[in-house]
Amino acid sequence: MDFDDTPEDAAFRTEARAFLEAHAPRKTGTDADWSRGAMAEHPDEQAVYHKRCQEWQATLYDNGWAGIAWPKAFGGRGGTPAQQIIFNQEAARYDVTSGFVGAAQHLVGPPLMRHGSPEQHARHLGPLLRGDELWCQLFSEPGAGSDLAALATRAVRDGDEWMVNGQKVWTSAAQHADFGILLARTDPDAPKHKGITFFIVDMRTSGIDIRPLVQATGLTHFNEVFLTDVRIPAENVVGEVHGGWAVARTTLASEAGMIGGAGQSSTFDAVLALARECGRTGDPEIRLALADVYLRERILKFHQYRMQTAIMHKRGTPPDPSVLKNFFTQSLSKRVELAIALQGAAGMLAGKDAIHDGFWQKQVVAQFSSRIGGGTNEVHKNMIGERALGLPAEPRSDKDVAWRDLPRS
Ligand SMILES: Cc1cc2nc3c(=O)[nH]c(=O)nc-3n(C[C@H](O)[C@H](O)[C@H](O)COP(=O)(O)OP(=O)(O)OC[C@H]3O[C@@H](n4cnc5c(N)ncnc54)[C@H](O)[C@@H]3O)c2cc1C
Repeated sequence: MDFDDTPEDAAFRTEARAFLEAHAPRKTGTDADWSRGAMAEHPDEQAVYHKRCQEWQATLYDNGWAGIAWPKAFGGRGGTPAQQIIFNQEAARYDVTSGFVGAAQHLVGPPLMRHGSPEQHARHLGPLLRGDELWCQLFSEPGAGSDLAALATRAVRDGDEWMVNGQKVWTSAAQHADFGILLARTDPDAPKHKGITFFIVDMRTSGIDIRPLVQATGLTHFNEVFLTDVRIPAENVVGEVHGGWAVARTTLASEAGMIGGAGQSSTFDAVLALARECGRTGDPEIRLALADVYLRERILKFHQYRMQTAIMHKRGTPPDPSVLKNFFTQSLSKRVELAIALQGAAGMLAGKDAIHDGFWQKQVVAQFSSRIGGGTNEVHKNMIGERALGLPAEPRSDKDVAWRDLPRS
């Protein structure tokens, strides 16, 4: 690993620091930081958090710091992936985040840039990058999650439009979104990966019914979305008709890397401070568990350094994004479960009755979402087996069978 900046990177880092120092307050590492507000339960607090995420994204855009590695032609800075890493490292010290606005850019930007038409680029990439228009991902369905290509939402061509009917589920932020990226089946006679088309859909189109789902954390992060005779203009197809799987794969690859590289509001230092507060640092089993949490945090950091070196110096093999994602989510579970164990019986309290107003209780309930979203741990293990370890692929009996002939639940 080699983390030294080249002279150009060092100059970029100085410039980034100056921008951040001028536009953002430093993080305190406490609940006083607004950038921790993703877990706020009250809808008013959520609305404030979302607005601040959008405002920060607009500040980035207006000052030429949004989409650092996006081409200039698409509204980005035209920089390198290394520069994006440097900026993220520097920004981690400040009380700022683009939150779900930034996440949408990871999901929507790459497929639109790579597969979209010039008109789609001109219409959508600017407002996406500035955070003026919000997006959601309409992929998963009740019968199609890990096996996404089994999806059953139908789109039928009708003149200059497509008519869409079906149901999506787990659609993050759909209730706030202006647009969605939608996968629908356009050729049921083709094998399941071959008859799918990728659309842009205006979320205010008649026939779209969005029903928020309340999670155990009290948040309404995601939704059920019902589509009934929804009309989408033909020019909103991204890539080839029936060729949507290739476009979707661009999104899915970007998503796994994004989750594995995500920052964390619960760190080893925070767990250690809690252990001291609860008077548990003398317990040998707790000390072992603390060591495990510490080691995992270091290992994750080294994985990220390896990724960084491979990108910045264009050498070495970066760790597979599935390795990063799974290690990240397993380590998160160990950390937050230890934090609850440290509290003893008080760990069963919640909300204002609990230590730190229930911060750790919320983290422990929320941990499952990162193990599932962006592909479950089990599915990523399959990918590690195939891609990283070179094991034979899982046998597939449905590869050459028409989707309409496949058994479905
Ligand atoms: C926080 C969060 C946000 C999300 N946001 C979105 C979003 O914005 N848009 C969207 O489209 N979707 C979203 N999802 C949905 C997510 O992509 C799916 O939940 C995920 O792909 C799993 O699908 P499923 O829930 O249908 O579970 P299933 O696929 O039914 O899996 C059930 C169980 O079977 C296991 N399993 C399945 N297949 C295999 C296999 N081949 N080998 C081994 N084990 C297997 C799984 O690991 C799991 O334990 C979100 C999910 C979460 C948790």
